Amino acid sequence: MNYLSKGYVTIEELKEVLGELPSEERLRQRPVAIPECPQEIPCTPCKEICPTEAVLMENPNAIPLVDYEKCVGCSLCVQICPGLAFFMIHYKGDKARVTMPHELLPVPEIGEEVILLNRIGEEVGKGKVVLVIPREKSKGDTPVITVEMPIELAWDVRAVKVVRE
Ligand code: SF4
Ligand code: SF4
Repeated sequence: MNYLSKGYVTIEELKEVLGELPSEERLRQRPVAIPECPQEIPCTPCKEICPTEAVLMENPNAIPLVDYEKCVGCSLCVQICPGLAFFMIHYKGDKARVTMPHELLPVPEIGEEVILLNRIGEEVGKGKVVLVIPREKSKGDTPVITVEMPIELAWDVRAVKVVRE
């Protein structure tokens, strides 16, 4: 598929890979995990760590899918994924909260305004950090942050840039 040469997935490609995205009703209930891992590679930490068996993989090489109803939004898959390929989305009113790995320094602080980046690193807006899991508390090697943003950006933003004077 094209994403193997260009290095990122578009939302249209992601829909093809996942089959279906969570409904708006489900996105409003509680955070739901979204795997963006479209290559068949021998890797299973996301499946092994999930406490509710919501991560579905037919075999260790399979592309991970999520049973959105079983997912309780614990973020362990986001924390453990070595490929930085798991995210969570939660709709709240006219905002969305996106939980993502953040490997760059500095790690933003709760309440900090950050620049929102899409899958190819373009700046698409500003958001506010509402939760930080620092590296020492993460189950993996990567800090995890949750960023509140305009709801229409939830399926585009997959990283942030921290700008401090
Ligand atoms: S957020 Fe938690 S419950 Fe949901 S898929 Fe990830 S590990 Fe499983
Ligand atoms: S842990 Fe990450 S890289 Fe490995 S299969 Fe799961 S989503 Fe893909």
